[in-house]
Amino acid sequence: MSSAIIRCPNCGQLNRIPAERRAQGPRCGRCKNAIAAKVPVGVIDDAGLDALVAQSPVPVLVDFYADWCGPCRMLGPVLQGIAEEYDGRLIVVKVDTERSRRWAQRLGVQGIPAVHLFKAGKHVAAETGARPAPHWRQFLAPHLV
Ligand SMILES: [Zn+2]
Repeated sequence: MSSAIIRCPNCGQLNRIPAERRAQGPRCGRCKNAIAAKVPVGVIDDAGLDALVAQSPVPVLVDFYADWCGPCRMLGPVLQGIAEEYDGRLIVVKVDTERSRRWAQRLGVQGIPAVHLFKAGKHVAAETGARPAPHWRQFLAPHLV
């Protein structure tokens, strides 16, 4: 049976959860926090993103945003929906560009929201703007098995 990779919203640990255990209220292997059916899109800092990009066995979609940015607020719920739809096959996180600047600078992020995709530790795609869900499905399709 297939398994899902779920990022613990409490401690950031990546957990491999067999599909048949998903309905039984699984807990994080490190902090024992309950992993809900709908994992929220967590905010992560530069060091956290270093570790996540290096370790994640599934692609990582990163939303570079800022609180003052109106389009970013529009994109937030869209990407939460994408996170739920691709649950277990994709990890979606947010980076606050006001507090964490290193990755945004390295990637040359200018306009936000900027969405960047990493797979097997490599940067594979990027897109800017508050686009609707069908756009993100097309964006992800070549990179997901
Ligand atoms: Zn945890």
